[in-house]
Amino acid sequence: IVKAINIHKKFAGREVLRGVDLEVRNGEVLCILGPSGSGKSTLLRCLNHLEALDDGVVWIDGQIIGYELRDGTLKELPARKVRRQQREIGMVFQHFNLFPHMTALENIIEGPVTVRREPRASAIARAEKLLASVGLAERRDAYPAQLSGGQKQRVAIARALAMSPKVMLFDEPTSALDPELVGEVLDVMRALAASGTTMIVVTHEIGFAREVADRVAIMVDGEIREMGPPADVLANPTDARVRSFLARVL
Ligand code: ATP
Ligand code: MG
Repeated sequence: IVKAINIHKKFAGREVLRGVDLEVRNGEVLCILGPSGSGKSTLLRCLNHLEALDDGVVWIDGQIIGYELRDGTLKELPARKVRRQQREIGMVFQHFNLFPHMTALENIIEGPVTVRREPRASAIARAEKLLASVGLAERRDAYPAQLSGGQKQRVAIARALAMSPKVMLFDEPTSALDPELVGEVLDVMRALAASGTTMIVVTHEIGFAREVADRVAIMVDGEIREMGPPADVLANPTDARVRSFLARVL
């Protein structure tokens, strides 16, 4: 359902992504690991066109993201059309990005009501189900400041899911959390994976990757150096840089 071919991205002349290819099937979970600065966040941001590409193409569910083919070349889409595509791509960041002046419930219905013009009553009913599914039914009227980091992140996940995304992108969703709160967020992600959600997860949680990922990709210096089932990639990496990275984190 997600396909990226030959993604290149430069910042100030420096190549941060050097030709990344990626394919994720419907319902698959891909975890991306790699050292700091290897380009993991940039790759995710390229997949949903938060960054323009210097080369390459991204398709999600058969649609080119951020561009359209005109006269044989790719032209960037107008912002309005890009936003329409981005709504169908769920994104959860390291820092929760909830609206501080809205309750948990209001955060979740905001997209469906204002963007998708869904009737308020049905959006609320769905938001309540989503809150229950992330274990926060009782906190529906709490403001972000009244929630723990793990609770905020679970609301952020519910908010992304409220838009019925075709794929969920996670960028280190647990790395800003106190250690005792990591588990509750990983549990929600584990349940999402089990329910068949297509997920691309940048993470440092090797245990999660080993257990939940269908495939693991390891990025080094703007390239995917290894990709495959976790048992193969984590146990027998062939690339020397990947071996030294894994030796440090395993
Ligand atoms: P981390 O594990 O620390 O999150 P990462 O693998 O996500 O690292 P990126 O954030 O993708 O790495 O960054 C890759 C490189 O691109 C880094 O050297 C970073 O400094 C650079 N970079 C990222 N975003 C920008 C930007 N907007 N402008 C300039 N350079 C950037
Ligand atoms: Mg990052």
